[in-house]
Amino acid sequence: MIPKSHPRYQSLVLREIVAEGVKKGIVHITGLIAHGRGEAFDYLLGEKTQPFAIEAVKASIAYLKKAKNPVISVNGNTAILAGKDIINLARKIKAKIEVNLFHRSEERIKKIIRFLEENGGENILGLEADARIEGLKHDRAICSYDGIYSSDTVLVPLEDGDRCEALKKMGKIVITIDLNPLSRTARSADVTIVDNVVRAIPNMIKYYDEVKNPDDIIKNWDNKKNLRKALNFICKRLTELY
Ligand code: ATP
Repeated sequence: MIPKSHPRYQSLVLREIVAEGVKKGIVHITGLIAHGRGEAFDYLLGEKTQPFAIEAVKASIAYLKKAKNPVISVNGNTAILAGKDIINLARKIKAKIEVNLFHRSEERIKKIIRFLEENGGENILGLEADARIEGLKHDRAICSYDGIYSSDTVLVPLEDGDRCEALKKMGKIVITIDLNPLSRTARSADVTIVDNVVRAIPNMIKYYDEVKNPDDIIKNWDNKKNLRKALNFICKRLTELY
């Protein structure tokens, strides 16, 4: 039991949740490493949503409002950390949810689907395995035809760079949530929300109704410029911390 007075309480709670996810068979063991990398960047970001992340949230909503067939791709870390919010977001934006794993196993997909269903999710895709993301080898190419394959816009939190680039090559609008503004995923997506998934998804729900002019937002959106803002923020904060 982590005492609430601990200065790193929130971060330690998330760490516990992810570790519990491994025990439940929802998070792959390497998900702990991915979480650790995220934690390090969150530390540098002050563990708070920064203004550039709100701008990216609004851009992501703009693209999702224009989408004809949006899909949210969920992996183990995202499910355990933000499963309930993902379901609420999917309902709000009328998106399908597909469980899609880098380290694919049918058993883990089933566990994640069950976990999402326990949190109110319905018709969750992921087990069909009837299509492939073009240009990728091995199991990480496998996806659902009715989900990611036929989508026009995909929200892929905590994605791997290769897959993000492959989705872009298939002509999709790719929105990601990644605490690391330097990752290949962050740099190849159309919209990168540099924030923790536990804050970014609730913010997407919160700001959804506020976005009334998606065409204007998309016209003025520059993802690289927003990533530079994130990096500048980190650099400035580092020089001011000591
Ligand atoms: P890439 O292949 O895109 O360069 P990578 O190899 O650095 O990425 P992966 O291990 O594939 O990264 O994916 C983990 C990514 O998810 C990391 O960039 C990490 O910062 C980010 N991440 C981890 N936990 C969270 C979280 N809770 N919220 C947002 N991002 C996170």
